[in-house]
Amino acid sequence: MKKVVKFGGSSLADAHQFSKVADIIHADESRVFVIPSAPGKRFDGDTKVTDMLYRCYEKAAAGEHYEDELIAIRSRYDSIIQELGLEGFTLDEDFAKIRAHLAGTPERDFVASRGEYLNGRIMARYLNYEFIDAADVIFFDEDGVYMPEKTVRAMRKRLEKAGKAVIPGFYGMGEDGRVRTFSRGGSDVTGSIVARACKADVYENWTDVSGFMVADPRIVDHPARIETITYKELRELSYMGASVLHEEAIFPVRSYGIPINIRNTNRPEDDGTWIVESTCQKSGYVITGIAGKKGFCAVDITKSMMNSEVGFGRKVLQAFEEQGVSFEHMPSGIDTMTIVVHEDEFVTKEQRIVSAIHRLAAPDAIEIESDIALIAVVGRGMKSTRGTAGRIFSALAHARVNVRMIDQGSSELNIIIGVDNADFEAAIRAIYAIFVETQL
Ligand code: ASP
Repeated sequence: MKKVVKFGGSSLADAHQFSKVADIIHADESRVFVIPSAPGKRFDGDTKVTDMLYRCYEKAAAGEHYEDELIAIRSRYDSIIQELGLEGFTLDEDFAKIRAHLAGTPERDFVASRGEYLNGRIMARYLNYEFIDAADVIFFDEDGVYMPEKTVRAMRKRLEKAGKAVIPGFYGMGEDGRVRTFSRGGSDVTGSIVARACKADVYENWTDVSGFMVADPRIVDHPARIETITYKELRELSYMGASVLHEEAIFPVRSYGIPINIRNTNRPEDDGTWIVESTCQKSGYVITGIAGKKGFCAVDITKSMMNSEVGFGRKVLQAFEEQGVSFEHMPSGIDTMTIVVHEDEFVTKEQRIVSAIHRLAAPDAIEIESDIALIAVVGRGMKSTRGTAGRIFSALAHARVNVRMIDQGSSELNIIIGVDNADFEAAIRAIYAIFVETQL
């Protein structure tokens, strides 16, 4: 049994959290590769070290005074080192290098990556594990795009030689010899890459919640926990805003069937959520989860006899493609089709897209509706259960929510509902209540 364990920023925010993490690792011999994030917030209103580093970089790049930021960052690490009692261990040399870098031509990704790098150095020393610099085993091309084959080859070779090791999250090395990072929250992706490279049995992702909830706890009070969810369901939910795990973290492991177990560092006794390729386990409810986002626009296009005009849809979509705007959904009628897009992406290009649709597809009319929220109701159980859609819409009607759009994915894994932004929270609460609280 081999496990890769990734710990998020709040799990490593201070020495007390570090000691919880060490207890978790030592409790199971199979936890061989450890991926740390940078120290996160210790309390509400605190600042993550990564954010401090970005600020430090921005000041340095603007030629402003950044010494105070750097001292504050250093003191976060020094207090961890002191409180853990790591005698004789200092980050003097590392900080000298960071200082020299900032004084030259600072690079944003390099500066940000130091949060994980330094935490990894402390972690390796504290656990007495080997330290493997992610810059030696994770690679990006010159445009900063992650290179899976090269990475897995190098990583596998390196891990085969290692015993137990710490590999910092979030960054790697570009083809041009510059450090590159993933997008924010990217240590989750590093953990997944390591799990794939060493063919782990489980990828444990330790955070500060006991897994995924059926709905966002900021909207629904104490929502039920999801025990098991498939990669496909999770993909739908995280795309629509459920944010426990980085959206891209499932890709490295999903085709290798390595399950991800989301766990809570502050409640290690909880089972958390299992993310798996497929399962015969029924979810506790007909639906697995609900997620959603505000801020969409619907572009309604009308043309008589559209249904018999071959190529009409392609021409309309070409207008969006020409402006580099991707569309989310495309419900259609006989003489109408609607393209749903992200409002902030669309708004600056709106008139160019409208005129391109006129030029390419010659419609009778185009209307734009804004302030739409999309809600995804996701569940592998929906396919085989009667009346799911009926229950959703009657719950919404009772909650006096007007449904502006409906789209059922062809996989029958989800139903997407468009409502007014203002009805978003009420709609989620109503759907949650009908499936979870009444448990019919
Ligand atoms: N430290 C980075 C961030 O704050 C990456 C991570 O924590 O996963 O985004």
